[in-house]
Amino acid sequence: MQDNNKIKEYDALVIGAGIAGGEAALNLANVGNKVLLVDKELTVGGKMILLSKVFPTLDCAACITTPKVSEIARHSGITTLTSTEASDIIQKDDGTFEALITTQPRYVVVEDCTGCQLCEEACPVNVEDQYQYGLVGRKAAFIPFSIASPRAAAIDIENCTLCGACERACPTHCIDFTQTVEKYTIKCKSVVVATGFQLFDPTLIPRYGFGRFKNVITSMQMERQLAPTRPFNTVLRPSDGKMPDNIAYVLCTGSRDKTVGTPICSQVCCMYSTKQAQLLMGALPMADITLYYLHIRAFGKGFNEFYAQAQSMGVEYVKGKVAKITEKEDGNLILRYEDINTGKVTETEHDMVVLSVGILPNEGITKLFTNRKLELDPFNYVSQSNPLESPAMTTIEGVFVAGVASAPMDIPDSILSAGAASSESANYIRHISKKTLEV
Ligand SMILES: Cc1cc2nc3c(=O)[nH]c(=O)nc-3n(C[C@H](O)[C@H](O)[C@H](O)COP(=O)(O)OP(=O)(O)OC[C@H]3O[C@@H](n4cnc5c(N)ncnc54)[C@H](O)[C@@H]3O)c2cc1C
Ligand code: SF4
Ligand code: SF4
Repeated sequence: MQDNNKIKEYDALVIGAGIAGGEAALNLANVGNKVLLVDKELTVGGKMILLSKVFPTLDCAACITTPKVSEIARHSGITTLTSTEASDIIQKDDGTFEALITTQPRYVVVEDCTGCQLCEEACPVNVEDQYQYGLVGRKAAFIPFSIASPRAAAIDIENCTLCGACERACPTHCIDFTQTVEKYTIKCKSVVVATGFQLFDPTLIPRYGFGRFKNVITSMQMERQLAPTRPFNTVLRPSDGKMPDNIAYVLCTGSRDKTVGTPICSQVCCMYSTKQAQLLMGALPMADITLYYLHIRAFGKGFNEFYAQAQSMGVEYVKGKVAKITEKEDGNLILRYEDINTGKVTETEHDMVVLSVGILPNEGITKLFTNRKLELDPFNYVSQSNPLESPAMTTIEGVFVAGVASAPMDIPDSILSAGAASSESANYIRHISKKTLEV
């Protein structure tokens, strides 16, 4: 718990604890800086901790993320605060910063929670599980997922009926309904923005039927079904719990589409869909997998070989523009598409459709800064003021950007970008500290 009356001082504030923010925090702390790492979620790890495997190596995402996450948790130079946001960031005349830190109550004393889940078992309230992207329910007293960090319960107060069953079940008496919002000011010498991305909302393309047809799901929902912390033991279609055997992917859903406000390529969807297709071939050996695409962007090291590997495994790639999806009585789906090679309009039937949703910027980030303007680029990502010479630099001196906050990119590029941001931030901290000593 923080002492509210004392202004805490850090060298760096890192906003967002996904793979980019986590990596930046570790790099900064490893060269002796005192880092405050904040994330608005209940756990660190961002999207990566929720993924299945990673392209093009098919290494397990959790096996890469969890050692980093535990290094962050154990590092004496890093203070990590979850359910926490930074705002009202002011840059002082000497180049340092002040920020307001707001932590929402979790209603559980994290240090005392053993993660036994007895509260979860006792809780009578069922709601949609946001960490499983709505595929299953969770309780109002819940642990986000088994590899969450911290692995501690939280109470979803919006849905809680205050019945007290969790408090009675908890063997360590760590549920505390008296917790309130905590607000305090911190000082720091540099800020790293690593706020990542949001996923495109496919209800904005009503002709694909997401939200109306149960067996139309998003790629993140498929990612969860293939991940080690998956909701079911196998891949199931939502309408009837049947194992699908003819799955279609619609690439570029909400990317490269000016009509929905996302003109650029999301960079990762071709490859994550190709990855999921290969994983599905393993999980459901009898299933047919078809990817409907406009162009395949296999631009990275080993990506084209990965694409060729999927084709040799039997994944079908159809160059076709999907116009409409309709639902049959049995829950199967009819895809109407234009075959780009022949110009013919064709219909095919699948028992599940995965929309390969694109990446969207977190535009709200500009509002966090008060007396200086954090500018956005024409696509609403954090503007890189000198992208060729110093890609981590933003329009505020001392504020650096890491990962997808600056542009769509994959995990290796997010880690590289975090390396650039942390080294620029460490230089700035050194420069500011030297100036302070000289005064
Ligand atoms: C379905 C899918 C599959 C993918 N598969 C792969 C793959 O196989 N291989 C690969 O290389 N890449 C893959 N990617 C891309 C990968 O997820 C990203 O490259 C990576 O997650 C980017 O990390 P990040 O830290 O920049 O952003 P994020 O993971 O989005 O993390 C940002 C963090 O910032 C926090 N945050 C946001 N705003 C605030 C705020 N105001 N205050 C505090 N905290 C905030 C968020 O809660 C989050 O924890 C996939 C993406 C998707 C959607
Ligand atoms: S008090 Fe709230 S969280 Fe606890 S068991 Fe009852 S409904 Fe669930
Ligand atoms: S809050 Fe209590 S009952 Fe729930 S997981 Fe933590 S220790 Fe167990």
